[in-house]
Amino acid sequence: MSRRQKKRERRILKRCLLASACVLMLTLTFFVIKQISRLTDMGAYAYADAGKTDDVAETWKSQATDITEEPKLSLTPTPLPLLTAAFSDEYAHTGEARERISHERGIAYGLRYPAYEDAAMQEAVQNAAEELLTKELEAAFGGTEGEQILLIDYEDGAFGQLVSVLFRVEREHNGKKEYETVPWVYNKKKGETVDAETLFADRAYLYIAERVNGTLTEEAAEAEEITEVAGNRETFSAYLLTAEGARFFYEKNGEEQAVTISYPELHTYMAVTVGGTVIAETIRELDPDKPMIALTFDDGPHYQQTPRLLEILEKNNVRATFFLLGSRAEWSGSPEAVKKIAASGNEIASHTHNHENLATLSEEKLIAEIADARETIYNLTGDYPTFVRPPYGSFNDRVKKYANAPLITWNLDSEDWKSRDTDTIVAHVLEEAGDGKIVLMHDIHYFTVDAAEILIPELLDRGYQLVTLRELFYYKGVELENGKVYHSAYN
Ligand code: ZN
Repeated sequence: MSRRQKKRERRILKRCLLASACVLMLTLTFFVIKQISRLTDMGAYAYADAGKTDDVAETWKSQATDITEEPKLSLTPTPLPLLTAAFSDEYAHTGEARERISHERGIAYGLRYPAYEDAAMQEAVQNAAEELLTKELEAAFGGTEGEQILLIDYEDGAFGQLVSVLFRVEREHNGKKEYETVPWVYNKKKGETVDAETLFADRAYLYIAERVNGTLTEEAAEAEEITEVAGNRETFSAYLLTAEGARFFYEKNGEEQAVTISYPELHTYMAVTVGGTVIAETIRELDPDKPMIALTFDDGPHYQQTPRLLEILEKNNVRATFFLLGSRAEWSGSPEAVKKIAASGNEIASHTHNHENLATLSEEKLIAEIADARETIYNLTGDYPTFVRPPYGSFNDRVKKYANAPLITWNLDSEDWKSRDTDTIVAHVLEEAGDGKIVLMHDIHYFTVDAAEILIPELLDRGYQLVTLRELFYYKGVELENGKVYHSAYN
């Protein structure tokens, strides 16, 4: 190798070393810069990590409560929400409310629910509200970016023994708002919550949709835009029971709409009516092969004769059906008699409120005759009457439509009102007696109750089982329908 060559090699080696050094320097610089930038970002990292452990979340809470304390310098910043939840006065409350405004893990929230004097009811509504809050907060933590506000407010109402609350949930996230509604209904008398399935039969929703689509058609036709609302539970899942009726909220064209349906109009479709089905739990165990007769007593209650009749029924271990007049149930001494019937296991049915000839009444009066008796009986017994007997056995299509119950007449008239004589009543009923028959009597007359005292043991001797109407229909396999007329188990 010549000197010249050696010199050239050394030159190349020098350049290589220099290049390597440069690369090394650059790499080092890069790392230093990166390290510095990491330190600057540390706050943000810690912020995001903090929400992941409950311990840290607890620390925030304690720091947050004492807002007067000097902020401590810490690597973990306290993520107090920039926004605070605030209630609007958009929703009407009928009584006192309980509320709290707070925040949790960066989410500002407000929770408001009714305050009741009844301790059990208070506990129930509070549990429902707190459960809803927990669920909503958990869902909110799913997407942690940006500020979030959660508001749970409510609307409320009542109908008879039912107390109704509709929770209104509003979520605000990155300027976007979402709404949700959660209904809560409580039966004061039974001390338990009631769900929509218990209140409304499936066909109720078809009816509501029909109403909604019907009313909207005129306006929609003008706007040349007809959107049908579907008649199902999902569409009308938000509801509130008010004094005027059941208020259903639904969405149409992206906006909330509401429709209030009065109870007389709706109660055909409320599952709390007999709704076409005999409720098996109120049925005694009887011999389906032995003949049955349903004794029915109209125009009561009578403060003296009704309790007397109840004793006779009990003594003979039989049951009957009482078609009560709503107006008479309010007379002195009568509420006690009604409660005695309910407690005895005998059946209570409606003979309307004022004993008017329904076929001659206006629609409005007819509805009131049915609805008032129904309400009176419900208020006294906690149960709705299952059947309606139109006074004088008089009905037409309108009566069938608004009775909102199976219509019961009779096929054996004791003619107690005509003979007004105990022996004649007994002889007549025994002569006409037969399996599946419905017997018409009146427990407001002492001679009828006297007749029952003789008649009942005699019918038992002849092999008849004396049953309530629902027992009769149950054992004879009769499918009941609201608005249909039944004269006997065999019609
Ligand atoms: Zn009558």
